[in-house]
Amino acid sequence: HAKENGRNNYMFFEQDMNARAVQRQSTEAGLRRALERREFVLHYQPKINLHSGAIVGVEALIRWQHPEQGLLPPAQFVPVAEDCGLILPIGRWVLREACCQARAWRQAGLPPIIVAINTSALEFRAKDFFQNIRAALEETHLEPRYLELELTESILMRVVGYTDEVLHALADLGVKLTLDDFGTGYSSLSYLSKFPIDTLKIDRSFVRQITSNPDDAAIVSAVISLGKSLKRRVIAEGVETPEQYAFLLARHCDEGQGYYFGRPVQAGEFAGLLANGISGTLL
Ligand code: C2E
Ligand code: MG
Ligand code: MG
Ligand code: MG
Repeated sequence: HAKENGRNNYMFFEQDMNARAVQRQSTEAGLRRALERREFVLHYQPKINLHSGAIVGVEALIRWQHPEQGLLPPAQFVPVAEDCGLILPIGRWVLREACCQARAWRQAGLPPIIVAINTSALEFRAKDFFQNIRAALEETHLEPRYLELELTESILMRVVGYTDEVLHALADLGVKLTLDDFGTGYSSLSYLSKFPIDTLKIDRSFVRQITSNPDDAAIVSAVISLGKSLKRRVIAEGVETPEQYAFLLARHCDEGQGYYFGRPVQAGEFAGLLANGISGTLL
C-alpha cells in the first residue's frame, strides 16, 4: 500500500513539474512578445531624507502590463527572465527608460534626484555591462551621479577580478552603488571595505519588527552605526508605520523608503509628488 501511495505521490510530483515547465515556457514566450510590444512599465517609489523629509531619490521598479492578466509584479516574471537570459534585453530597457525619465523630470524643472535601478547578477556579469551604462548616460544626457545601481550581495560574492574592475569603473564614472536587501545574503563585511559601495540598504525583513522585536532593533541599530563608521549612507526599506520612522530617525538613519512615505507609482504621479513634496505624511 505504502509503495502505491509513494508512486502516486511521485506521479503528482511529475505532473506538477510538467505543469511548471509548461507555465515557464509560456511565460518565456510572453516575455519575448512583451519586449516587442513594449508591455513593460516602470513604477517609481520615493527615497526620503529622514531628517528633512525631502525626496532625495527614487527607485524604478518594473511591472508587466500583461494583455490578459493585468499588471504583474516582478516576482511573477523576473526569475523566469533571469533563467532564460531575457533579463539582459529587459535590463537594457529598464536602464534607458529610467535615465530618460530622470532627464525628463529635470527638464520639466523638477528638483534633481538620484534614480536607482535594480541589477541582476546576470546583467552585471555581461561583458558589455559597463559600456552599456556609460552609453545610456551619454545618450540620455544624464549626469552619472544621478544614476544609482542597486546590487545584491550575490553579485559581490563572485570575488573575481572582473567584479572589482567593473565596480571601480562605475564608481570612477560617478555612478552610485547600493547594496540592496543588506543582511539577507551571504554578506561578508570585507565587501564593504573592498568595494566602492556608497549605500547600505537595510532589508525590509529587519525593519518590519524593529519596534516589537529587540533582536531586529539591535541588528538595525548596528547596521546604522556600521554605515556611519564606514562613512556609507544607510537607507531602510519597507518603512510602513510612524513608529518605525521614529525609531530610524532617533538612530540617525539617513534615508527611508516604504509605504509610509509612498508606494511605487506611475511616472506622472511621481512627478506630482516631486513637485509638491510629501511633507504631509511625515511625523
Ligand atoms: P527590491 O529591490 O528589494 O524592491 C523593494 C520591493 O519592496 C518592491 O517590490 C517594493 O514595491 C516593495 N516595497 C516597498 N516599500 C514597501 C513597504 O513599505 N512594504 C512592503 N510590504 N513592500 C514594500 P516589487 O516592486 O514587487 O519588486 C520586487 C523585487 O523585484 C525587487 O526587490 C527587485 O529585486 C526586483 N526588481 C524590481 N524591478 C526590477 C528591475 O527592473 N530589474 C531587476 N533585475 N529586478 C527588479
Ligand atoms: Mg531595490
Ligand atoms: Mg530591496
Ligand atoms: Mg527586496
